[in-house]
Amino acid sequence: MSSYKNKLFLTYESNTQLLPFIRLLANQIIHIIYIDLLKIHINKAYQEEKNYLISTLFGDYLGINYEIVFGEDKDYTITLGNQSITIGNHLFISEDVPYLTTDNVPSKVNFTDYQKLADNLPILYGTEKFNITDNSIFIDSDIFAACFFMLTRWEEVIDKDKDAHNRSKAKNSVAFKAGFIERPIVDEFVDLIWECLVKLNYKGKRKKQEFEFIHTHDVDQIEKWSSAQAVAKTVAGDILKRNSLQLAKANLRQSKATSKGIINDPYDTFEELMDLSDKIGVKSHFFFLHEGNHELDNAYEWNHPLFLKAISNIQERGHLIGLHPSYNSSINSHLLSKEKLALKRIIKEEPTIGRQHYLRFTVPETWQIWEDNEMLWDSSMYYSEQLGFRCGTCRDFPVFNVITRKQLSLRELPLSVMDSTFFEKIENGETESVYSEIKSCIELIQKHKGKFVLLWHTNYLNLAVFERHKALYLKVLDLL
Ligand SMILES: [Zn+2]
Repeated sequence: MSSYKNKLFLTYESNTQLLPFIRLLANQIIHIIYIDLLKIHINKAYQEEKNYLISTLFGDYLGINYEIVFGEDKDYTITLGNQSITIGNHLFISEDVPYLTTDNVPSKVNFTDYQKLADNLPILYGTEKFNITDNSIFIDSDIFAACFFMLTRWEEVIDKDKDAHNRSKAKNSVAFKAGFIERPIVDEFVDLIWECLVKLNYKGKRKKQEFEFIHTHDVDQIEKWSSAQAVAKTVAGDILKRNSLQLAKANLRQSKATSKGIINDPYDTFEELMDLSDKIGVKSHFFFLHEGNHELDNAYEWNHPLFLKAISNIQERGHLIGLHPSYNSSINSHLLSKEKLALKRIIKEEPTIGRQHYLRFTVPETWQIWEDNEMLWDSSMYYSEQLGFRCGTCRDFPVFNVITRKQLSLRELPLSVMDSTFFEKIENGETESVYSEIKSCIELIQKHKGKFVLLWHTNYLNLAVFERHKALYLKVLDLL
């Protein structure tokens, strides 16, 4: 290194005026290239997976320079000058052994501390062995395999026990069973890597992150009081099913006021939601549902006057429009493509963001469908029945398809909280505990400077039956 450094200075010897500046610049460059360049040594098996993982954790999350050296070392050895961090490799050892098997899904998860570096981290692969000296750190827990497990969701590929909508169940996940579903564990592992680097006097800078609130609304329905029959049906349900004369009266009053044009239809909440977003300085993301081909789609046509009015208002006010692909599109690329094109014709631009209707999602097929349709980000990753971090992270990340073994251009922005997860609890009068749960989730994401993605459906706001839900929603917005 020193001879290269000397040569570089000799070249500029003649220009005396610029010399101090050039000397400084050259030193900086040499420092960045040689001193702070991390080398990550690892064996040659599963290079696609390792390239993805290392580029995501070191490049995307930490934003630091690194070089991967594929060789014979079994474990991951990160070298920095004469210092090193060794992390046990317990999954990607040999390509003769496939990893997408039930046997490789962690069945027992222990937790361990790493002195002052990190507390109570789960061990998905490897052991709790840990050692630290002045210039080396050894962690036997395979945090790379753990991050890969969480980010790619490959346990869902082999878990065939799905719910009535063919969705993965939170209770089947390792994160739920081991009790860390409500922790962004990938972000915690990345913090551990960073703390190890700092401990070894790494001088580079970590990528700056800021907490962000992403306000999203799936538009499943657009008009409640569309006809006299719709009013009669709801009111009959209030009396016969819900046993509430009070609700029936409130709905009758509201439907009359809507038909006289005194108030907006209770599902026409676009202006109100945009006002709320404007007040806290964020944009609303509205994801529109197409007619689809399933009985749980077909809620409204895309020539409905309320739909067209909403589209033009959203565009005029500078808020955002995305796609809410229909029920069966999660396994049907042609359908998603058709719906995307239909929305493009209306909004006169390419829709590139959104979320699957019913959070129906087949890993990795649905991600691949989004990729093939040139979408930029999806925000479906969330278990409908459970608040938490389905991918173990509170920020967007690049997607990896474990079947084709390729990294996609698509990014996943995991959903953090969905309104309907808490319907039963709110109905049972547990609004305070729901509020505390959401508040803790926000605080955790704030701590990690991540992205809090809230889904509040446009139709869960102004019906009498949603009075308590709306109060909770407004209280949550006050936190942001
Ligand atoms: Zn939906």
